[in-house]
Amino acid sequence: MVFITGETLQVYFLGTAGALPTPFRNPPCFMIRRGSDTLLFDCGEGAQQQMMRARTGFTVDAIFITHWHADHFLGVIGLIQTLSFNGRKDPLPVYGPRWVHEFVNGLVQLCRFNVKFSLNAEELVHGSVVRFDGYSVKAFSTDHGLESLGYALVEDERPGRFDREQAIVLGVNPGPLFGRLQRGEAVTVTKDGAQVVVQPGQVMGPPRPGRCVVYTGDTRPVIRGISSVTEYADLVIHDATYDESETEKAREVFHSTSGEAGDVARALSAGTLALVHISSRYTGTANHIRDAAKRFCGKVIAPDDLDMLEIPFRG
Ligand SMILES: [Zn+2]
Ligand SMILES: [Zn+2]
Repeated sequence: MVFITGETLQVYFLGTAGALPTPFRNPPCFMIRRGSDTLLFDCGEGAQQQMMRARTGFTVDAIFITHWHADHFLGVIGLIQTLSFNGRKDPLPVYGPRWVHEFVNGLVQLCRFNVKFSLNAEELVHGSVVRFDGYSVKAFSTDHGLESLGYALVEDERPGRFDREQAIVLGVNPGPLFGRLQRGEAVTVTKDGAQVVVQPGQVMGPPRPGRCVVYTGDTRPVIRGISSVTEYADLVIHDATYDESETEKAREVFHSTSGEAGDVARALSAGTLALVHISSRYTGTANHIRDAAKRFCGKVIAPDDLDMLEIPFRG
């Protein structure tokens, strides 16, 4: 029997600090591994050492930057140098909002080492879709006082459930024909001495949504913007610079409180909410988690640097 298995989907929290690093938290950097693809979302200072500590290696297939505040991009320069040292030849796409071309051009001019591979800058706007094999990264506008984007990694739909018993009733013997039906092909079988064609629709349930990870970058809550690119999320990684004692401050500086992050996670029927970009003023995250949990009944976490989360399929 052929089983259709899904790709692994893992999120490495390499940097969970707010604007300033602390002895325990690095500036923002999130690595998402899907199957053999590795994508980096923001790349703060010190990202390379975090990759070493998390033992992820440096192989990166694309970098997505949310905005041009230095805590989100300073790690790119060192990473490029290392990839060059290591003899990388493949082009590296760098996606980001307006000024991504200036950033990449400036970086290449500034660096007196030879970048031995091409850095391909690509500017994204709200609604831009970057296609990968089996999934897309969709950009949405955020609200941070300058041009900024968040990203949703959205997998393609999965085939529906295969009804084994029904297939047998229709005369299909367990074996290679099951696999062909699961891949969407019609098969011909002999039943009661007659040739019968069995269509995939007779034995497959409706397609099921793939998994989705949303990363907001720095922002006020933008439920409508996110909802225009995805209606649901398995994991929401949200700006939670402040807890609820600082709602005014959060509004002033275009960040979110953990309670506001909870509102977004609830609107997206998220499985898990990860609170990140924690301000250096806090020594613990218990209040952040408490405040988010008041407004969102799914799982709330405030990951430590180097934590890794595996995202399972829903049902
Ligand atoms: Zn920031
Ligand atoms: Zn910022």
